[in-house]
Amino acid sequence: MSDHPRHPHTAALRRGRFALTRVMSLAACCLLAACSAPRPEIVHQPDPKPTSLLLRHAGVLDVGGGRVLADRDVLVRGDRIAAIGLGGQIAAEPGVREIDAGGATLLPGLIDVHGHVSLDSAPTWVRRMPDVEANLRSYLYTGVTTVLDPSDATPEAAERRDQIARGELLGPHLYTAGRLLTAHGGHPVALLQVAAPWWIRWYLVPGAAHQVGTPEEARAAVALEADAGVDFIKVVVDRIPEEAALMDDETLRAAVEAADARGLRTLAHIGSVRDALATGRAGVAAWVHNVYKERIPDATITELADFGIPMVPTLVVWHSYADIGGGGRIATRLERETESVDVLDAFNDDPDASALAAAFAPYLEMLRDQRPIWAENVQRLHAAGVTILAGSDTQSGVLPGPGLHRELALLHAAGLSRAETIRAATLHAARFVSGQQDPDFGLIEVGKRADLLLVEGNPLDDLDALSNIREVIVSGVPLERMPIGAATASGG
Ligand SMILES: [Zn+2]
Repeated sequence: MSDHPRHPHTAALRRGRFALTRVMSLAACCLLAACSAPRPEIVHQPDPKPTSLLLRHAGVLDVGGGRVLADRDVLVRGDRIAAIGLGGQIAAEPGVREIDAGGATLLPGLIDVHGHVSLDSAPTWVRRMPDVEANLRSYLYTGVTTVLDPSDATPEAAERRDQIARGELLGPHLYTAGRLLTAHGGHPVALLQVAAPWWIRWYLVPGAAHQVGTPEEARAAVALEADAGVDFIKVVVDRIPEEAALMDDETLRAAVEAADARGLRTLAHIGSVRDALATGRAGVAAWVHNVYKERIPDATITELADFGIPMVPTLVVWHSYADIGGGGRIATRLERETESVDVLDAFNDDPDASALAAAFAPYLEMLRDQRPIWAENVQRLHAAGVTILAGSDTQSGVLPGPGLHRELALLHAAGLSRAETIRAATLHAARFVSGQQDPDFGLIEVGKRADLLLVEGNPLDDLDALSNIREVIVSGVPLERMPIGAATASGG
């Protein structure tokens, strides 16, 4: 493939490059506007926003306890849960907006611990440009109120997070790792070279990742990201495809140490047992994929559990790639409500002619071979005490929001109880992303941030209830939701 440009390290050149990326990103946006129709706005903020909310007669999901407290009233003031009482017992205050839950279940808004806000989820052979704001709306529509994005290659990653926090942009609360660190020619360089449209590839490939091959390069890359205001550092230690370069242990350790020195935790993309051990020893804070390339030997399960760090298996993304060319992909309810029929149907087109299927044929074959061991690895790690967190790895085939719901079903099928599955996307996820044992969100308690999801049915009896969404409340604001199907004649 092509040679791998090294980034110049002088400050002036860095600033020059930054200015150039801004111009190029603007150019990309203009092309996007010219090439893609605007996507429907499937969520809106009410105007005016209510200052307080009273949810009447809800079953409140106690995520820590794994039970539903029947018939409760929940009062929200501003962005906080102000009071929780027995059904009908909380007095309405002037100006309050009342919602009769009628026995529906209230749970914390969901957290995607491996989302991507700047990628596109259409099949790679459709070649649609990403639409960040549409992605943000799609997460919210499906009840995802917080996203940890472990690799956002756009220069605005940290600014976007802050705009959402200031209420200037509608989206889930964001945590970002900015641009990831990988070996020269390591993942995702090869993937982008075939998956990105040719006319933007020259810009995307060098911009998507810091390609580092020495401790000095790793430290320089971490410094750039830390200066940009990221929340985490992400390293890739996995070969995709199998002949791609892999980060060496010395460079990996230097990256983790440099992140530590800036008060940042490191997230590791891994593939094999070797990668999981190397990153664990280097001191990363979490694995943001499962070991998906092989069955983990029994003795290694204990060794991995001893690191005491969580894993975000992202089973859905491996299934999605393994399914390429299989046909018969059935869209879920939330996918039909958030994505166009054309794009959903295109997943079942014959992709044999696509560059991705051709260039990655052996890799995709490996995924299909290893598919049976993914759930088993997760189940055994979970049984050994590894905290499992829910993340979708939003990208082609994994839709922003609906992808997390698919992941929850896969985690449950991998042996997590329904309560554990919900914790993986709420309380446990909140503890990890915030770094706090008693987080400000991810549970329903007086004083916590009012990121809430009201669903018909009880997800502790049937996880599918999570797709049956009546209300999504983010920072105390109940969103108006308009499914894509409702805007066309034949939604179904
Ligand atoms: Zn990812």
